[in-house]
Amino acid sequence: MTLTGNYLFAQPCDFIMGAVAMDALPAPDYPEIAFAGRSNVGKSSLINALTARRGLAKASSEPGRTQQINFFLLAEKLMLVDLPGYGYAKAARTEVKRWTHLVKDYLAGRPNLRRVLLLIDSRHGLKEVDTGIMELLDEAAVSYQIVLTKADKIKPKELEAVVESVRAAFKKHPAAHPEIIATSAHDRNGIEMLRNELAKLTVR
Ligand code: GDP
Repeated sequence: MTLTGNYLFAQPCDFIMGAVAMDALPAPDYPEIAFAGRSNVGKSSLINALTARRGLAKASSEPGRTQQINFFLLAEKLMLVDLPGYGYAKAARTEVKRWTHLVKDYLAGRPNLRRVLLLIDSRHGLKEVDTGIMELLDEAAVSYQIVLTKADKIKPKELEAVVESVRAAFKKHPAAHPEIIATSAHDRNGIEMLRNELAKLTVR
C-alpha cells in the first residue's frame, strides 16, 4: 500500500551524514531521491518545506558553500539526498571539478537511486548547466523529474509558459519523467503533490 505523502513526511526525518567522497556514502539500504539544482534555486527551502522542518537543510546564505552530499533518512523508508548546488559563478575551479566528479560518480553509480529531482527556478527556466545535468542523467539512465521552484514569484500565465518550454525540451531527453511539478516553499503550492509523488517511490 502506498502511504499518503503528508503522512510520510510527518514521520521522523534525520540527518544521517554528509559525504565528500564516494567511498564514504551510507550503505544503499533505502530507496533514494536526490535533489539537484543550481545554487540558490531554492533547494534547501524545498527540502525544509517538504519535511516541515525549518533547519533540516541549511538555507544557504552563502551560495556554493555546502560542497558535500547530505543524506536525510525519512521514516526509515526513504533517503533524501541533498546534492551540492552547481553553477555558482564564484566557486573556485578546483571546487567545481571536485563537485562534478563526486556528483557524476554518485549519479552514475548509486544502485538504489530511484529518482533525481532536478530543481529549476520558475523565473529562469532551463539553463545550459541544467541541460548538461540532464544529459548526464540520460547517459547514466537515471530517472529524473523537473520540479519548478519559487512558483509564487511569477504570474500563472508565465508559469504555464515555463512548464511548456521545459516540456518541449524533454523530447530530447529519454530518462526524463514527464510530469513537471511547480512548487513554492513560500505559499506551499505543489508541496503536497510532490510529497505524494515521492511516497510512491518508497515501495521497493
Ligand atoms: P539553495 O541555495 O538552492 O539551497 O536555495 P535556498 O533554499 O537557500 O533559497 C535561495 C533564496 O531563494 C532564499 O533567499 C530563499 O528565501 C528564496 N526562496 C526559496 N524558495 C522560495 C520560494 O518558494 N518562493 C520565494 N519567493 N522565494 C524562495
